[in-house]
Amino acid sequence: MYSPSIDKLIDTLKKLPSVGQHTAERYVFHWLKSGKSEVSELKNSLDALLNNIKSCKVCWNFSDTDPCPICTDTKRTQTQICVVEQAQSVPAIEKTGAYKGVYHILRGTLDAGEEISLDDLKIKELLARIEKNKDTEEIILALNPDMPGETTMMYLKSKIQAINSNIKITRLARGLPMGSDLQYSDEITLGSALKNRL
Ligand SMILES: [Zn+2]
Repeated sequence: MYSPSIDKLIDTLKKLPSVGQHTAERYVFHWLKSGKSEVSELKNSLDALLNNIKSCKVCWNFSDTDPCPICTDTKRTQTQICVVEQAQSVPAIEKTGAYKGVYHILRGTLDAGEEISLDDLKIKELLARIEKNKDTEEIILALNPDMPGETTMMYLKSKIQAINSNIKITRLARGLPMGSDLQYSDEITLGSALKNRL
């Protein structure tokens, strides 16, 4: 419909969450009108993402360094691991100031309706981490309070207990509305859900 270069960019943008044909067209024509400096700024940011960001092989967060600054911070309680679904939950929890342990990012949840695909998630890595670090004291299961989150937390709890029955397994206090996303919870609600964990 448009020239091939424009169509190709539109098709690429349409792979993004919540971006359809219309929005993709708006972005592309915005860049065409805004001039080269804005486009090269975007290109540089994407290059940095491509070249600098790695997975921390301890917690599986995305970071400029491996291991990440949280995993190497000696002031943090390395024996306390907060398990979250997505990397975006980490800044949300950090903002509450209520947590001084480390994290493990699962990168998704088990879907109750589908065949369990463990390979896509960092569950094996979490269990290996617990097995290796015998001094782990507490695992906080801080997944989103929705069906896939609940299913995953139940699964993790039984697996962790089988490895080390001395580990305290806690979860965020009720108060976060069912179906909510941790990333968008306000600091006060999330902070008190952490402090009053069960
Ligand atoms: Zn890390």
